[in-house]
Amino acid sequence: MSKRRQLAQKVANLFIVGLGLTILISFLFQPAVAKSPQSKTQQVATSIGWQSASFPVENFQAYTSGFGYRTNATGGSGYEFHSGLDMAAPRGSYIRNWWTGVVTKVTDGGACGTQVTIQSGQWQHTYCHMEGKVEVFNSTRHMSDRAGGIQLVEGQTIPAGVRIGRVGMSGRTTGPHLHWGLKYNGNYVDPAQVLRAMFAIQPAARQSSSQIKRQQTQIKIDESKFIRDSGY
Ligand SMILES: [Zn+2]
Repeated sequence: MSKRRQLAQKVANLFIVGLGLTILISFLFQPAVAKSPQSKTQQVATSIGWQSASFPVENFQAYTSGFGYRTNATGGSGYEFHSGLDMAAPRGSYIRNWWTGVVTKVTDGGACGTQVTIQSGQWQHTYCHMEGKVEVFNSTRHMSDRAGGIQLVEGQTIPAGVRIGRVGMSGRTTGPHLHWGLKYNGNYVDPAQVLRAMFAIQPAARQSSSQIKRQQTQIKIDESKFIRDSGY
């Protein structure tokens, strides 16, 4: 074997050993499906003007399930990604629009139940398990909750704080609660972080000061948009 050939062989062997090691290492450290999820900070969401944002539910009782990975909510084995924050409130309690925006989607029948999605700039907010159902008139989609006196239509602009529905039991749920989901630029955000940021701003904003109004709020984005909606 020529010297050159021997060297090439050595390099090739090293490459194979290296490749094997890499595979072994990635196999060893690969979490079994989503067992040890790593929070990847992809970007930082910024916002101003949350002093007029609304807490999303009336008669709030407790946060019953946080954002992120959790054991299967309905008793199955394994982990699932919970894409929002669960907020318990008595059935029939009114849900309020978090921030001024346009109704982009109303739907029903899935795990999320009767659902309203509103877009406010780069922010998308979703409300699940509501009372009411979807009705289609003249090819426009409405969310109708007649008993609650609510009717929304896709394309409608809704101011912050306006009642947009009521807490129900539609979809996959074991008790009445609002599942509140938030995305920024298509990526999930922990709604609890947003609430904390709102609470931090709002008392300060009430004491006036235009400085605070211009202050930017930064929210870390924890999860990628590529995570499928598996838990409501
Ligand atoms: Zn939920």
